[in-house]
Amino acid sequence: MPDAKITKEISPLQFTKGIGPHRAEAFAAEGLLTLRDFIYYFPRSYIDRNTASSIRELTMSLQKDDLFTSDSKPENIKFYSEITILANITLKNVRQLGGKRKMLSLTLNDGSGAIAKVVFWNRSEYFDKVYKEGDFVAVSGRPEFDYGKVVFNHPDIEVIESEDEKLYREGAILPKYRITDKMKSAGISKKLMSSVVAKAFEELETEIMETLPEFIIKKFELPSAKSAISQLHFPQNPHEIERAKYRIKFEELFYFQLFIGLRYKGMKIKEAGIKLPNRSSLARKLFDTLPFKLTGDQKKVLKEIDEDFNSGSPMNRLLQGDVGSGKTIVAILTILMAIDNGLQTAFMAPTELLAEQHYKNLKNYLEPLGLHITQLVGAQRVKVRRQALEDIQSGKTNVIVGTHAMFQSEIEYNMLGYVIIDEQHRFGVAQRAELRKLASNSLGDGSSPHVLVMTATPIPRTLSMTVYGDLDVSIIREMPANRKPIRTVITFESQLPSVHDFIKSQIQLGRQAFIVYPLVEKSEKLELKAATEHFETLRTEIFPSIPCGLLHGQLFWYEKDETMLKFLNKEFSILVATTVIEVGIDIPNATVMLIENAERFGLSQLHQLRGRVGRGSEQSYCYLATKDKFQYPLKNKSIAQEDRKAVFVRLKTMEETTDGFKISEIDLKLRGPGDILGTRQAGLPEFKYADLVTDGDIITAARREVFSIIDADPHLRKPENEIIKLNYKKTYGSGDNYFDVA
Ligand code: ADP
Ligand code: MG
Repeated sequence: MPDAKITKEISPLQFTKGIGPHRAEAFAAEGLLTLRDFIYYFPRSYIDRNTASSIRELTMSLQKDDLFTSDSKPENIKFYSEITILANITLKNVRQLGGKRKMLSLTLNDGSGAIAKVVFWNRSEYFDKVYKEGDFVAVSGRPEFDYGKVVFNHPDIEVIESEDEKLYREGAILPKYRITDKMKSAGISKKLMSSVVAKAFEELETEIMETLPEFIIKKFELPSAKSAISQLHFPQNPHEIERAKYRIKFEELFYFQLFIGLRYKGMKIKEAGIKLPNRSSLARKLFDTLPFKLTGDQKKVLKEIDEDFNSGSPMNRLLQGDVGSGKTIVAILTILMAIDNGLQTAFMAPTELLAEQHYKNLKNYLEPLGLHITQLVGAQRVKVRRQALEDIQSGKTNVIVGTHAMFQSEIEYNMLGYVIIDEQHRFGVAQRAELRKLASNSLGDGSSPHVLVMTATPIPRTLSMTVYGDLDVSIIREMPANRKPIRTVITFESQLPSVHDFIKSQIQLGRQAFIVYPLVEKSEKLELKAATEHFETLRTEIFPSIPCGLLHGQLFWYEKDETMLKFLNKEFSILVATTVIEVGIDIPNATVMLIENAERFGLSQLHQLRGRVGRGSEQSYCYLATKDKFQYPLKNKSIAQEDRKAVFVRLKTMEETTDGFKISEIDLKLRGPGDILGTRQAGLPEFKYADLVTDGDIITAARREVFSIIDADPHLRKPENEIIKLNYKKTYGSGDNYFDVA
């Protein structure tokens, strides 16, 4: 029995012919509550003679797609694109697997001269009932190539009913709507879905409102809202669908960029910044005594920050640069600009160990200039802390370095006008805001501090325009000239002894090594047991005369810090780590990293790990050890098929490049944006068609348009922008009452 409240809510639908309460409930679960909702329930894809692949073509293209030839470029591969074929089921076959399991295979023939197979490993009895020999079906999925045949494992299959088949054969394009399992079990067929959509149109077409202003529609040659929506549901030709989709994507991205753009503009307009007019003699002094020359990118970033400091608005800038690209020295030079203008700086790190390292680093650079650095961390003796608070309040302190311990409200900053946050992905946006507030209070005149966020996690441009769209972005791509690129080698398990020998030889030269291996066990207890056993084998059998340390996930943070510190102080030569090694920690003497079971790590993760070596002047090495059987990857049947290629792209990419941006672009293609950004970034809206990975061009165009509009009319008061304001409020609400600001 449906819950009474829900029934009431969905009442408009359940009285529609052919629906009733049960089906209405299944629709409601997908957000389809009224007829109007169906107008915006766009087809997921189409069945179209013109775009479906023939099995023969597909066979040929898969045959050619050999990843392992030297000229194949991983970045050209699209991993999550779906292919649709149309064919008849000509044969069904059930095979007994081990235990009670059965495998169902369907043979497909589309008359192109080649056949394909569909395989179900799970729930095969159910699928056996659903699909019959002779059915005409649309099969969508990511095909594999196996023994000369195209194979779809567990694809999405739609049986095309005979009247639709006739339409299709006459060249019609059939929309494919998402029909959930819940809908299916409520007896909602494709036919019913189509008829409800048609009914919705019939009744409500005149109510579809335009959502973009005339000048944008003209400029980008977009179809009107009404025609785009109707073309998506009732397409005449593929070109129409493309234009209609483009329009929807443009609209989605336009309003999303507007959301970001208004936030960005709002900060600039509403908040006063502190102008730093004085040329910094301190920065000049340090600059002149640096033992190296800044790279072009470092200089460019300095200039960008200098301009922000003098703009009269608060700086909100993201500095992206791979590990070791020299972000910190740039930050230090800008701190000196702030100090010369009478401001205090807060420099925040995500862990105590990193704070400690920054503290020492800053002291080295700044104390010779007569400046005072104060550390603020959680674990501090009362006396030390009291002194620290006093120095901060009196203004004796020029720079405070610390962790989140810097947030506490009892701390009274003295003209805190500059906030630097290292390794942004560890901090929430809320924390950033909190620190800004503390800073504002200390300034006393209502102005906001300058904020610089530094991150070593490279993010592709299209993503940073969305995720960090409210920050200005500076990028350091160029590595310091003296840096030797890390040599990365894929190696196989049977070759590990020679890697171990190499590690020994490096240690004899006085260097240190990391050995990393992934978390493999399901339970924490087993995990720890495996880690300890592995460590014991390494320590007693493989490296009996070399001191080794172990870092694993079950340690408390201070135990981890302690282990890292011991490694830094060379108390042991090999650090075995089962967990991600502290981000950003510098162990310049470590020159080798061996990553075991490297196939289990994600691409960005491998890149971050590798960044732990190559931080000194010596040549560094990274070994990616993987299974012996991967030497013949195409023959391998034991790993999940869709992983098979991704594994090799990941490893080969690591071998070929150390460019973090390039790596993150490829990772984005492998995994999509959600995974890369992690759950913390769940704030991204769900789009019907727009794709943050593949629609970079549209994002750029929409963003440019948005900024030209709000530059000229920041509060959207001009009549031609009225429609934008109206629709924006509908989608994103009026937010922080931005529009009501006088
Ligand atoms: P990041 O913070 O981006 O990881 P760091 O600022 O810690 O990088 O720099 C890594 C190392 O490179 C430091 O020892 C720093 O002194 C050095 N370094 C920075 N810029 C340069 C440069 N232009 N030339 C040579 N060495 C540099
Ligand atoms: Mg750093």
